[in-house]
Amino acid sequence: MPLYSRYRLAVVDDDPTPRKILAFLFKGQNYEVAEAENGIQALAVLGKSRPHVLISDIQMPQMNGYELLRIVRKWFPEMGVVAISGTFDLDRSHADVTADACFSKGSYTVPDLLRCVAGLAKRYPLRSPARQGKMFLVWISQDYGPVLWIACRTCLQCFPFRYAAIRTADVHIVQCPSCFAKSTVSADELPSEAARTGSGAKEN
Ligand SMILES: [Zn+2]
Repeated sequence: MPLYSRYRLAVVDDDPTPRKILAFLFKGQNYEVAEAENGIQALAVLGKSRPHVLISDIQMPQMNGYELLRIVRKWFPEMGVVAISGTFDLDRSHADVTADACFSKGSYTVPDLLRCVAGLAKRYPLRSPARQGKMFLVWISQDYGPVLWIACRTCLQCFPFRYAAIRTADVHIVQCPSCFAKSTVSADELPSEAARTGSGAKEN
């Protein structure tokens, strides 16, 4: 047994400046740090590096922090999660963020963040590991109009799916273009955001 083992951390932010600063900060505290620019990249990074703690921005294109953290909690419940954002949506409370801690950009101190992350890392695993269940998770990206995205549990790759198709039938068999794993996706699995953001997701 080594005298101590290094904790692994993943930092997710589409803005490279705060991401690099956090990576530098935690490397200086002897953490192994992996970086990702968005949620889609983050899932692949999490699969490889299996960090003890994840720090994620909330406002990111394609898969935002809300969606990323929702998937992380389902698939990697053992991981500690810290959400950092300068602009928590006004219509969403922190309770909507599936995180163990939330920090607002510019209004926390570095020692507070270091203490929080160290505390989560020490408590790893925070929850029991996920049972191998549903292979795919779906979420709606609003970047270019509502687009349904699917994350593959087997290879942790994400891919877009025709949104219109999912609404016209109850259950679809979907195949991952990366690893060819198949799973079913049904209309009632759509995240609640679909109902909130797209009137098209509901019959009027
Ligand atoms: Zn796959």
